[in-house]
Amino acid sequence: TQATRLAEHFGVPHISTGDMLRAAVAAGTEFGRRAKEVMDAGQLVSDEIMVGVVDERLDQPDAVTRGYILDGFPRTEAQALALEKITADRPLQVVVDLEVPEAVVLERITKRRVCTTCGRIYSVDAPPAQDWTCDTDGGEVVQRDDDTEEAVRRRLELYAAETLPLVAFYAERGLLAEVDGLGSPDEVFERLLAAVAAAG
Ligand code: AMP
Repeated sequence: TQATRLAEHFGVPHISTGDMLRAAVAAGTEFGRRAKEVMDAGQLVSDEIMVGVVDERLDQPDAVTRGYILDGFPRTEAQALALEKITADRPLQVVVDLEVPEAVVLERITKRRVCTTCGRIYSVDAPPAQDWTCDTDGGEVVQRDDDTEEAVRRRLELYAAETLPLVAFYAERGLLAEVDGLGSPDEVFERLLAAVAAAG
């Protein structure tokens, strides 16, 4: 994904709350089992849990010394306010709003396929070379259980209600960079690099 690529480019950890939740699901913990139900329904995991997970992760030495790409968090105003407290002594450098029309989001997500072992992303329009096995590691490439049309519609509703207000929240704080998410992955990546560079 673009976030993975940015993290590799800058040599910092990629901290994805979705990936962390999916790791808990794969580990088969009780917490993971409950999180999977919430995720598959396209709902949001509670702010209290998510803030705890992120607080603990941002405290790890790699994130403290090198910085990080935070992906999928915050998704609500309560999470954004908690993040402000967590990062009080090392504030965020830039917050990127990747702008893509909703119809395109719906199409991209419902066509998305993912490697079950390494997480590499494919699409129905850009599949792996061989029969839905990953080009990188031969893992099985499947559709995420929460990438069905119904779950995606619910996620888009929640995005509009809970997450979109954060665009104004971060604009008020002078942290917002709006980046056009249409075009080839390479084009979008170059725009992301420019946005980070402009933020200094
Ligand atoms: P993602 O991989 O970012 O699309 O996240 C997949 C799912 O994990 C979301 O649809 C939510 O159910 C859950 N999730 C991930 N990040 C958060 C968050 N910051 N707050 C609440 N739920 C989250």
